Amino acid sequence: MALTNVVIRRADGKWYNISAEQAAREFPFGISVTEKRLKCRKCNHYISFVNSKNKKPHFKHSRGDFDKKCDERSEYDENYFLPKELNIILKNYCFK
Ligand SMILES: [Zn+2]
Repeated sequence: MALTNVVIRRADGKWYNISAEQAAREFPFGISVTEKRLKCRKCNHYISFVNSKNKKPHFKHSRGDFDKKCDERSEYDENYFLPKELNIILKNYCFK
């Protein structure tokens, strides 16, 4: 199941609903969980937004998230195509 109950913190400091399609237009390079801008409304954890050429844009719980019970966990979580370490390297070198 795709993650859909997602809110984003805007410049005014308030949280607003956002869809993956909307996020893809506004954040073509994605949003890291460390930015703390996106939250899952079901479990209230910070999440990330993934946008890549080969995949549908989607929101994603952190892999290290201790709460595995949230039923809004993305179907992409278990078979994500890049190891976490490589993601971090790419973020550090490409998105700064
Ligand atoms: Zn959640």
